[in-house]
Amino acid sequence: MKHPRRLVAAVTTLAIAGAVAVVGVRLQQGAAAPGSSAAAIKATPSSQLTAEQTAQRKQEINKLLSARATAVRKGDLKAFLAAVNTKDAKLAARQRTLFANLRQFGFTRLEYFLANEHQVPRLTEKYGPTAFSSRVMMRYQLTGLDAKPVQTDVAYTFVRRGTGWLLVEDNAIDEVLSRDGHRQPWDFQPITVVRRGKVSVVVAQREAALGQKIAATAQQSVSGVRRHWPQPWDGSVMVVAMPEPQVMAIFWTNGFGRGWTIAAKDVPLFDGDPVGRTPARAAGSRIVVNPEQRKKLDKDLLAHEMTHAASVLLGNEAPMWMVEGYAEYVRCAVIEDDPGWTVDPYRKNVRKTLASMKALPGPTEFATNGDRSYGQSWWVIEYLVDRFGVQKVAALYADLAAHATGADAIVKKHTKMTPAQLLAAVKKFRG
Ligand SMILES: [Zn+2]
Repeated sequence: MKHPRRLVAAVTTLAIAGAVAVVGVRLQQGAAAPGSSAAAIKATPSSQLTAEQTAQRKQEINKLLSARATAVRKGDLKAFLAAVNTKDAKLAARQRTLFANLRQFGFTRLEYFLANEHQVPRLTEKYGPTAFSSRVMMRYQLTGLDAKPVQTDVAYTFVRRGTGWLLVEDNAIDEVLSRDGHRQPWDFQPITVVRRGKVSVVVAQREAALGQKIAATAQQSVSGVRRHWPQPWDGSVMVVAMPEPQVMAIFWTNGFGRGWTIAAKDVPLFDGDPVGRTPARAAGSRIVVNPEQRKKLDKDLLAHEMTHAASVLLGNEAPMWMVEGYAEYVRCAVIEDDPGWTVDPYRKNVRKTLASMKALPGPTEFATNGDRSYGQSWWVIEYLVDRFGVQKVAALYADLAAHATGADAIVKKHTKMTPAQLLAAVKKFRG
């Protein structure tokens, strides 16, 4: 049996976080006459605004952004485009696609608001001195999918036109965004969302048939995970299977040397600015499929990723052997739910690696040998479930996931074993 390979999205760090933090606004204190700031903004280059004018600009643009969010919720394309420079045909087309894509979802909550400014000389040259570029936060909660609001960012440029502001660029400063910024499934070509029960599958509009197929597979995976994951999970999940490799991801390989290919990953989402964030409990996640694998997805690979989606709300502190081991445990259990299938070849291969096992697999072991580490992590969970039962192992998972420190003590509390004793027991376990 070919073993699917993947990456834990949480290990990736933000290389660009520092670049954004240093961008500031040059303030010129005390220059504006009270009550005249609207006119003053019109005449004042962005770089020379007073603190009061800057605050007013922020207020005006946030109002414009709120109107766009309302337009999405109400299905009002005209209002959505009201502040867009529709003389730029390409920009207008992209904005129409964005609107139509967003309309594929139900939003319990949707809001946009300015984050940090990021002035760019070439845009000032192109659009004149009032040009204003900024990261914009998108905070939203998808109906039937997200238990809590989550956030991502986009990059927009506005210019002063009359008494208002006009959106003139929607991707000119994407390099300052978070790694998932402007990389949501709705940010590329026209999409379609296929719904089946609590599963939503996002695919390119022209691949709707693929979406139907994945949705049927995903529903089987949801049932499988619910059979083997004893913690509460209602099965609400989004699977993103777009052709673009940039959607919610950058890397599709992992490990040292030539590395290995990631088939799919569960990408956690947070309710906070995704740039420079400190680790916090995820508010939700999306299962994102490697575009090259999207036409050959099977239910056991999805069962692995859905185990991550089902456990993500518990916290992100559990050690890798627990996170990946439990997902493998569920994947194998789902396969063997069908009496016609077995994972015996996988079992045999893993048993052969146990004699040389030096540690419960962590990031170093996974990067060195992904296949071996997934297998050994699975074996740790097989052992624990055999010895303590699935309920107690899931309780151990939840305890580990919620605590940033003290993993050894938590393992000891639940199993009466030190990590070394657990390792020794796992190496002896024959399954
Ligand atoms: Zn995994």
